[in-house]
Amino acid sequence: MPILDEVLSVNRQFVQNPLSQYRQAVTGKIPRKKLAIFTCMDTRLVDFLEPAMGIKREDAIVIKNAGNSVTGNFEATIRSLVIAIYELGIREIMVIGHEDCGVAHSTADQVIRKMLQRGISPDAIKLVREELESWLDHFHRPHDNVRQVVQKIKDNPFIPCDVPVHGLIFEPLTGEISLLVNGYEAVEWGQLRDKKTACLELNLI
Ligand SMILES: [Zn+2]
Repeated sequence: MPILDEVLSVNRQFVQNPLSQYRQAVTGKIPRKKLAIFTCMDTRLVDFLEPAMGIKREDAIVIKNAGNSVTGNFEATIRSLVIAIYELGIREIMVIGHEDCGVAHSTADQVIRKMLQRGISPDAIKLVREELESWLDHFHRPHDNVRQVVQKIKDNPFIPCDVPVHGLIFEPLTGEISLLVNGYEAVEWGQLRDKKTACLELNLI
């Protein structure tokens, strides 16, 4: 059965089951723990990372992309965090990388070769080659990436300085989480002043 038919078939049964744990009352879109989790799209994390953290439906916002990467000052992840903070009451961010991340094993050349084989236009590839290289060819260790992403989010002029940004690493086989960056330690006057200076320089405030 094609996956689309399978999903729709399962869904018909799902919505008819009045005993489903998911049918309990929904309280709203504001996350109870006021937490945003930014992690990787890796399939081993599906239905595993949240239980390993004690996170349940409505507890947190979960943002995912390949390699929990941030590639620009107002790219998709930052936009999601902006909405999460200003519209949905998020007060803390956890960047969670994981061991054996596939992005660490990919290179720009490898991806470009596969794109060409699938008929993607060389002219289109030319437009993104530099960006692909600066992302994939510099992602070697998930631990380093988490630290860098935490720093990028903290330095971002649109993220308020009173939002702690933690960095963690997840082991996708055992579910163990290790702390890399304790965001509470960074929320201090020095950083507040730096962020305000950066905002002033960009004429944002
Ligand atoms: Zn990954």
